[in-house]
Amino acid sequence: MLKRMLYRYSTDSNGKMRKTATIYTNSEHSIKLKNIDNDALRIVYQLHDYGYQAYIVGGAVRDLLLNKKPKDFDIVTDATPTQIKRIFRNSRIIGKRFRLVHVFFDQKIFEVSTFRSILNGSVGNIFGTIEEDSQRRDFSLNALYYDPIKEQIFDYVGAMQDIKNKKLVPIIPLERIFAEDPVRMIRAVKYSSTTGFKMSVKLKRKIKKSALLLLQVSASRLTEEFFKIINSGFAYKIILTSFDLNLLEYIQPNAYKMMKKDKIFKQNYLNSMKKLDELVINNTTRLGEKLNFVIQDFVDTLDDWESVKNQKSINVSEIYKNVWSECRSFVLPMNPQRTELEFAVKLALKNNGIVMKNRNKINKPKV
Ligand code: ATP
Ligand code: MG
Repeated sequence: MLKRMLYRYSTDSNGKMRKTATIYTNSEHSIKLKNIDNDALRIVYQLHDYGYQAYIVGGAVRDLLLNKKPKDFDIVTDATPTQIKRIFRNSRIIGKRFRLVHVFFDQKIFEVSTFRSILNGSVGNIFGTIEEDSQRRDFSLNALYYDPIKEQIFDYVGAMQDIKNKKLVPIIPLERIFAEDPVRMIRAVKYSSTTGFKMSVKLKRKIKKSALLLLQVSASRLTEEFFKIINSGFAYKIILTSFDLNLLEYIQPNAYKMMKKDKIFKQNYLNSMKKLDELVINNTTRLGEKLNFVIQDFVDTLDDWESVKNQKSINVSEIYKNVWSECRSFVLPMNPQRTELEFAVKLALKNNGIVMKNRNKINKPKV
């Protein structure tokens, strides 16, 4: 069969035609319409009926191409937030700077955003064209647009080739990508760990050199990223790579310091990440249970639990209070929900034979 490639063209300022995107038709890609969420499809059809462009974009397209089940379906369109809002009664405009629309269906929330321009760099908030929008996404595997009506993929950045070659390729130039948003370094490690895609030597070197930019990132954003890591089922690989690329020093500084100092602790901590991954793959949902793997090895180092356990009279609630407070500092800048950290600490103590006798008598630690 003859290889037939479709392209999308646009006219530049001199009136010249320019190839902008490669189009992959239904027979040239592996995405099946039946694997797309029906409500996401409904949103796309509706926008289309109103005369707007609309695509499934980002993580969902990536996951479908890699035969994984998408967590959610993000939609991008040339309609402005106000126009989107007018079409969907069940929707709300969110965000001050990045205005986008949440469309609600039953329990599900769909993010519908407007194409963004690359004016003011990749973090600006001016509306643009689909081509510009593709240029401000972080990595090529996250920058594919799927049109469920034509069942075609639009590729402005050579992403299909990168996916075929199993390469994690940044779209935004290396001089800017991490300076503009340091969290992209963690995202790079996350995507390369979860997909097995290779980072180039240059990219890895840039991450190592830029790692300390993470100091500027808010605790809440770092907490969010760390939660994603422990929920990914790939925590072992992500934490190990983060350690090697100097990122862990900013994601979990205390764990990092202890790993640096003590080979055994490093081994134990990484081993706990492996156990955490098994737990996640088996669908555990309780955050405290997962957090336990983040603090267990630290708790193990806090005392000689074997002899504490055998002492005649021990004040368990006093021990608990102290350990809880140590753990709260240990996981900084992450700031987990109080009840979940409590659960994790009790489990860590229990694993060392220290058990709370009367649950009702625990003195609640003060924050
Ligand atoms: P995940 O499975 O982690 O949710 P995702 O690709 O859906 O992966 P989101 O954080 O939900 O990730 O972001 C959706 C899309 O928005 C991404 O696929 C990417 O195209 C773009 N994006 C998100 N964060 C950034 C960022 N910091 N810089 C550039 N583009 C980003
Ligand atoms: Mg997502």
